[in-house]
Amino acid sequence: MVKTYCLKCTKEIKNTDKHCECGSEKFVTGELKIKNNKFTCVCGSSTFNLLYHADAKNYFLNVMRCTECGESVELKTLRDKGSKLYWE
Ligand SMILES: [Zn+2]
Ligand SMILES: [Zn+2]
Repeated sequence: MVKTYCLKCTKEIKNTDKHCECGSEKFVTGELKIKNNKFTCVCGSSTFNLLYHADAKNYFLNVMRCTECGESVELKTLRDKGSKLYWE
């Protein structure tokens, strides 16, 4: 099942528009397994190729594909500068 997690504390995240309560601004979405606080693909592989990079106003996305099974994983990083501007 596709879920979104904080990359740092590995907690499941519902709202990726703001920082995780641990302070992390990186979130990962996909069919993932968590092992020793690290994410791997559901197939067990931890090798991904970058498919594309996308920039948005308040975040950027790196979409990656597992080299073993082809499953895609999305990494979202909030922009600190963007969010500061937003609050000014
Ligand atoms: Zn977190
Ligand atoms: Zn895989």
